[in-house]
Amino acid sequence: MLIDSHCHLQDRKFKDDMGDAIARAAEAGVTAMITIGYDMASSRRAIEIADARDSVYATVGVHPHDAKTLTTKDGDELARLAESPKVVAIGEIGLDFFRDLSPREDQYLAFREQLAIARAVKLPVVIHSRNADEEVYEVLAEHAEELGASEDRLIGVMHCYPGDLSLALRYIRLGFAISIAGPVTYAKSNVTRAVAGAVPLTSMTVETDAPYLPPQRIRGQRNEPAQVRAVAEFVAQLRGTPYETVAEETAKTASRLFGLTADVAERAGGTR
Ligand SMILES: [Zn+2]
Repeated sequence: MLIDSHCHLQDRKFKDDMGDAIARAAEAGVTAMITIGYDMASSRRAIEIADARDSVYATVGVHPHDAKTLTTKDGDELARLAESPKVVAIGEIGLDFFRDLSPREDQYLAFREQLAIARAVKLPVVIHSRNADEEVYEVLAEHAEELGASEDRLIGVMHCYPGDLSLALRYIRLGFAISIAGPVTYAKSNVTRAVAGAVPLTSMTVETDAPYLPPQRIRGQRNEPAQVRAVAEFVAQLRGTPYETVAEETAKTASRLFGLTADVAERAGGTR
């Protein structure tokens, strides 16, 4: 088992060879991949792809970059799309104060509105956070209880986790998983390596964010879900743990987070 908890197969960089990329992922041992929505069009497309491929699941949401475009009508549509059987989370949502492509006020509004949708449809959230460590934490801490955080229920995942270990442990206490991506393999990633080496595997997922964030060995090229293996191998090496253990345990975390086993089968059977 190996799960890419965050990729964007609907990106135009996969326009010509998405099927091949999915086949290469399967060859690399990837058993499931989550293709993440970032605006309305990419959310709809994520569902189309997931509906056509057994190993692909979808999320729907509007990225902080596009927060200023989110209308009330979009919010209604997201809630409707979220009922689709292969939609496993709301996201990616959050705050990005690095690029500030939407005004911060709009980012907060879109973030909170989509957290409310997640609560209403009872799905976990996929969080994008950049240069906004404490601000994102504060918003999520406000919403953790209503999102249903409990001893054994994960309520979301910090995608390509950008912070340090002490913040990671605070997120874990809140009910979040920490997702490790390709940059952990870069030479200057000491902070991320400390996180990847210490966070319990029961709270860790691995991801590619393909077509972005290629691991060191293919840096400069398009990334793809098969490369999640390179991330898991690197984490295994860091921890001095067998690769199989990291692959299996992070896949279990992703399955629990996104409800990829009985839950999805049940929903596909039409219980919601
Ligand atoms: Zn992403």
